[in-house]
Amino acid sequence: METKLLKAGNEALIEASNLIKNGDIVAVPTETVYGIAGNAYDGEAIKKIFTAKGRPQDNPLIVHIASISELDEVAVSVPDDAYTLALKFWPGPLTMVLKKSQKVSPVTTAGLDSVGVRMPNDEFARELIIKSGVPFAAPSANISGKPSPTTAKAVYEDMVGRLPLIVDGGESMAGVESTVVSLLNETPIILRPGVITKADLEDALNKKVEISPAVIKGLKSDEKAESPGMKYKHYAPNANMYLLDGSFEKFKNYVKNKKCDGAYCLVFDGEEKEIDLPCITYGKENDGKSQAHGLFSALRKIDEVKAKTVYARCPKKDGISLAVFNRLIRASSFNLIEL
Ligand code: AMP
Ligand code: MG
Repeated sequence: METKLLKAGNEALIEASNLIKNGDIVAVPTETVYGIAGNAYDGEAIKKIFTAKGRPQDNPLIVHIASISELDEVAVSVPDDAYTLALKFWPGPLTMVLKKSQKVSPVTTAGLDSVGVRMPNDEFARELIIKSGVPFAAPSANISGKPSPTTAKAVYEDMVGRLPLIVDGGESMAGVESTVVSLLNETPIILRPGVITKADLEDALNKKVEISPAVIKGLKSDEKAESPGMKYKHYAPNANMYLLDGSFEKFKNYVKNKKCDGAYCLVFDGEEKEIDLPCITYGKENDGKSQAHGLFSALRKIDEVKAKTVYARCPKKDGISLAVFNRLIRASSFNLIEL
C-alpha cells in the first residue's frame, strides 16, 4: 500500500474525512501523540487499526469526540463528575472511562461494556471528527510495544505501507498519552497517568481520586487488568534499559565503569557534560512537563543510535513526572534499580 503524507490543512481534511467515511484509517496529529483514526462505530474499520499496529485484540481504543454533547452518543448513564471534568479539561488530554453506548462497536472497546472517551485539543483532529460526521477511535500511531510517535516522521517510520495517509500537524505538544480516569465507580481511579494529574482531578471534583497500583508496578500474569493496556510491554526501545532511582551523584558513580560498545545513558538536560558515556537527554530534572515532552523522541533516539544497554535517570513519581515514570518503567521492562 502506498502511504501519502500531507500537511494538516484543507486538502488533508478532505482526504482524511473521505477515508474515515469509507471505513478506512488515517494517521492524525493530536496534542498528546499521533493517533491512527477510524470510525468508532464501524468494527471493520477498527479491525484495520489493530492490524496496522499489530495491537493485541483485547486492548481497547479511546473514542475521540468534538463536542461535549456527543458524550451521550458514545456513553450511557454519564455521571455528573464526567461533565464537571469535561467542562474543566476538554478539549485536552483527559480520557474518561464510562459505560458504553450501543452505537460504539464492540471491536473498539475490545468487548468491554465500558468506553474510554476524550475530546482532543488539536484543531485538525476535531475538524476531522466534524467533517466525517462520526467520532473516531484512535490508539497511538506506533507499532504495538514501541514508543509512541510525537512527529509525523516517527509515524512514517512505523506505518509506511500500513495505512494510506499520514497527516503532518507538527510536533505533539504534551508528548505523552492522555490521563485515563475511570468513572465507573463512585471514587474515580486513574488507570494511566498523564499531564492532567491526580491533584488536578481532585481539585476539579472536590473529592479523592485514586491511582491504580498497576500504574507503577507490573501486573502478575494471573492478575486482572482494570485497563487492558496495563499488562502489555510498552514504549520499549530495542536496548536493555535500566531505570536507576537515586541522586545524580549515585548515578554517576554507578555508570562510571559501564563504558562499552552500545552503552548509553538517558539523563536530564545538562547532565551529559558530567558523564563519560554517550548520552541522550529527555528534559529538565524536576520538570515533568519538559520530561513528558522529550520522552518519546528520546526513546526513539535510543533505537536510532542502536544502543544495546541504556542506564536511565529516574524522574519523580508524582505530578506530571508520574506519567513519565509510568512510561519509563515499562520501557525498561520494570528493571528498576534503587541506588
Ligand atoms: P492507546 O490507545 O495506546 O493510547 O491506549 C489506550 C489506553 O486506554 C490503554 O491502556 C487502554 O487499556 C485504555 N482504555 C481504553 N478504553 C478503556 C476502557 N474501556 N477501560 C479501561 N481502559 C481503557
Ligand atoms: Mg499506545
